[in-house]
Amino acid sequence: MPVLPKSKKFVVIGAGMHGLSTAWHLAKELKARGIGSGEDIVVLDKTSPGAGASGIACGVIRNFYYQPAMGEVMRVSVEVWEENAQDLHYHGVGYMALVGPVQDSDLQSIYERQQKSGYRSDLICGEQQVYDYMRGLFPDWKARSLTTCLHEKQGGFAFNISSVLGLVRKVESEGVSILSGVEVTGFTRSGDTITAVQTHHGTIETGQIIIGVGPWIKGLWTMLGLPNTIDIRKPNCDVVKDWPMWTYWRLQEGEIRVNPAEYVTADGAYPPVIHVDSTEPLISDRTGQVITDKLWGIYFKRDKRGVQGGAVPDNLGTDAQVDPYGPDSPYYTVNDDFIDYWTAGLAHCMDRFEGCSAAYHRAPSGGVGAFTADSFPVFDRMLPNVYVIADSNHGYKMIGVGKEVARVLMGEHSSVLHPFRFARFAEGDLHPVSNSPYPWS
Ligand SMILES: Cc1cc2nc3c(=O)[nH]c(=O)nc-3n(C[C@H](O)[C@H](O)[C@H](O)COP(=O)(O)OP(=O)(O)OC[C@H]3O[C@@H](n4cnc5c(N)ncnc54)[C@H](O)[C@@H]3O)c2cc1C
Repeated sequence: MPVLPKSKKFVVIGAGMHGLSTAWHLAKELKARGIGSGEDIVVLDKTSPGAGASGIACGVIRNFYYQPAMGEVMRVSVEVWEENAQDLHYHGVGYMALVGPVQDSDLQSIYERQQKSGYRSDLICGEQQVYDYMRGLFPDWKARSLTTCLHEKQGGFAFNISSVLGLVRKVESEGVSILSGVEVTGFTRSGDTITAVQTHHGTIETGQIIIGVGPWIKGLWTMLGLPNTIDIRKPNCDVVKDWPMWTYWRLQEGEIRVNPAEYVTADGAYPPVIHVDSTEPLISDRTGQVITDKLWGIYFKRDKRGVQGGAVPDNLGTDAQVDPYGPDSPYYTVNDDFIDYWTAGLAHCMDRFEGCSAAYHRAPSGGVGAFTADSFPVFDRMLPNVYVIADSNHGYKMIGVGKEVARVLMGEHSSVLHPFRFARFAEGDLHPVSNSPYPWS
């Protein structure tokens, strides 16, 4: 049975990317300022590090965001990945987004912003130019009607559990303790201030709580007495009343088992992660039938045992079964429609993937994500001593959030996190919306 400390200055709830990254950076801040150390911090997880979304994520790391504020979070995050590439199993192979005319101007804006911030990327415009560029990288590339390509030279992917374990090592080397099998069940409060965290194994008195519980956020949010419906001021000043704070989406990802060493670029290099949004008819690789002739999207990357990727997720509404997460979850195994859709997308892109539906391997690869009222994160102090990291399922890649949160906990202002404050809903200071088919772009 885990032995709980009687009190800790800082209690972090959740040992996913955000809880761990916050604990790591907070320990460094305390030490650097000579006001404490990692021994002032405990991380609690009801299961163990990586038991949530961070352990299932495809691990794609990109700055492909239309919203300037999201781009800033990613610029800061990619710095953390690059500085700790080996320890966190990060592979900076780059990321490519290929789209049709409806998203041309979105990519142009993203590219211009990346140029201004020094984020390395190239923009290729024009149907034939994009096709030629892709043929240069992959001689068997065949997808047409893609009119803009943003080739990010930074970003790429990391191996999910390996990077979580890399973070665990960093956290523990700072003297932070991580307690697995400790579920937070409630809070003791004095007015708006939380004085203790209640768990199945006892109570920990504390001065500061950081919550990073991924898809379980609604439960903790409710325990804190925060609202599950909110009013949102739209840019035209209309107010939408009683909007659900949390909506669940089902993320489906899968893999084909092919020799990964054969999935290389024309010059034998590790291929970048590829994302395609197209309105060309999507033809089933299995049946030859048209799956859709409307906007569809897939992404894929080379993985340890083949090629892995995903597609546009399914909206599950405001209630979903989050527990159990992992192998026993109803969302762990993907459905046949996803397999048909994703393999059709692969076969659409390259000759080498024709017939790939036969190589589909039913691997554990799905999960549920909790999205906020506008599908962008809430990073904010929700009670005087409670900081909530609700990443709206954007965030394995957002390892830099913990670094910024640690600064905020030290009393600094973070211009990177400020656009994600909860008050934006009431103020109408919402993020711009792109033409992407995904809820998170
Ligand atoms: C299938 C899938 C693929 C994805 N692919 C990508 C991708 O390629 N790139 C990307 O950037 N993002 C991706 N995401 C999103 C990303 O995984 C999440 O946004 C991110 O991992 C969330 O991290 P977290 O630390 O907030 O939460 P989690 O990783 O979910 O960690 C939360 C932890 O909190 C613990 N916990 C929950 N409740 C309690 C409690 N009451 N008491 C104590 N502990 C508790 C859980 O056990 C868990 O370990 C994907 C998500 C899914 C589901």
